[in-house]
Amino acid sequence: MSDNSVMVYIQQKEGKPAEVSLELVSKARELADKLKVEVSAAFFGEKVGGEVSRLASLGADRVYIAEDARLKYYTPVPYSKLMNLVVEEYKPQIVLFGATTEGRDLAPRVASHLKVGLTADCTDLQIGDHTQKETEYKDILYQIRPAFGGNIIATIVSPEKKPQMATVREGVMRMAQPDNSRKAETVKIKTSLGADDFLTEIIERVMEEKTVNLKGAQIIVSGGMGVGSKENFALIRELAQTLGAEVGASRAAVDQGFIGKEHQVGQTGTTVRPKLYIACGISGAIQHRAGMDGSARIIAINSDPEAPIFSVAHYGIVGDLNEVIPRMIKAYKARV
Ligand SMILES: Cc1cc2nc3c(=O)[nH]c(=O)nc-3n(C[C@H](O)[C@H](O)[C@H](O)COP(=O)(O)OP(=O)(O)OC[C@H]3O[C@@H](n4cnc5c(N)ncnc54)[C@H](O)[C@@H]3O)c2cc1C
Repeated sequence: MSDNSVMVYIQQKEGKPAEVSLELVSKARELADKLKVEVSAAFFGEKVGGEVSRLASLGADRVYIAEDARLKYYTPVPYSKLMNLVVEEYKPQIVLFGATTEGRDLAPRVASHLKVGLTADCTDLQIGDHTQKETEYKDILYQIRPAFGGNIIATIVSPEKKPQMATVREGVMRMAQPDNSRKAETVKIKTSLGADDFLTEIIERVMEEKTVNLKGAQIIVSGGMGVGSKENFALIRELAQTLGAEVGASRAAVDQGFIGKEHQVGQTGTTVRPKLYIACGISGAIQHRAGMDGSARIIAINSDPEAPIFSVAHYGIVGDLNEVIPRMIKAYKARV
């Protein structure tokens, strides 16, 4: 049977879908509407059936579920076996994964089993036509991502083989408004997994809670090389604290050891869309802009009036951040 759908692999923790999977279901709905096909989801775990309505509210029409106590945590062998089985049985035309550690482990296993292509870390997905060697392919998935160190935005297609497969980073796609009137059909997959499929046993899981929540922050104050030193990052932290903001950074600032990697915004950091993003001493390289240009309002502070960051900023302050930031803090405190 072929459902010809746009399928999303649902990553789960304690049976709850990961945010990136929900973002992808929302995007899949958009793609499926263009293709006039259904959205399906592949969802495996110990107990996951209770979350089907959530996936439906974001656009899933059908959810293939496999429930087994041994599937509580992701391990590569049983999960890739199940994913191969679902894709071979229902033949979706597109399969999407979050570009998380888990997605980056699972997607290539499935792609190599099916002998199809896989585009990693897409920043956009569109549907369009493609002509190659005088053959016209209709309604192909455009898998869009920065390439060659971010110097070009490449559109990658794999027109000849199905499914077309891509991974997408967290926070890149917008989550839709849930519509609780939507319903999805649940299809139970027979697991038929034997002891041989569980070669890896999870004995203990040590969770390190994230201390930085860039994705959830309404305001982010980011510092770059212009901050000058680890010690001077205290100024960025002070402005952030004053505004109730999270602290972000450019990769150059992270590489210099001014601040930890978990604060990095950009192509190889976190993609953010806060209400307000304040870039301090950041030049605005394309790899940085890729992670923050969707912010609702951007303020840039830079001593160089030609800095590229000003091309995406709504408000630009040309000046030395060591003078500008203390004045901003003083002005803000005077108002509240
Ligand atoms: C594959 C790849 C992936 C990458 N991924 C990322 C990523 O995820 N995130 C990211 O940020 N970068 C990324 N980069 C690096 C990126 O290309 C830039 O090198 C980096 O963003 C530059 O950081 P910066 O703006 O802090 O430093 P710089 O480019 O050195 O800019 C410093 C800025 O500070 C200004 N300045 C200096 N002193 C002051 C002052 N006193 N007051 C005010 N302004 C001042 C300068 O005018 C300058 O504009 C990536 C690069 C590659 C090749």
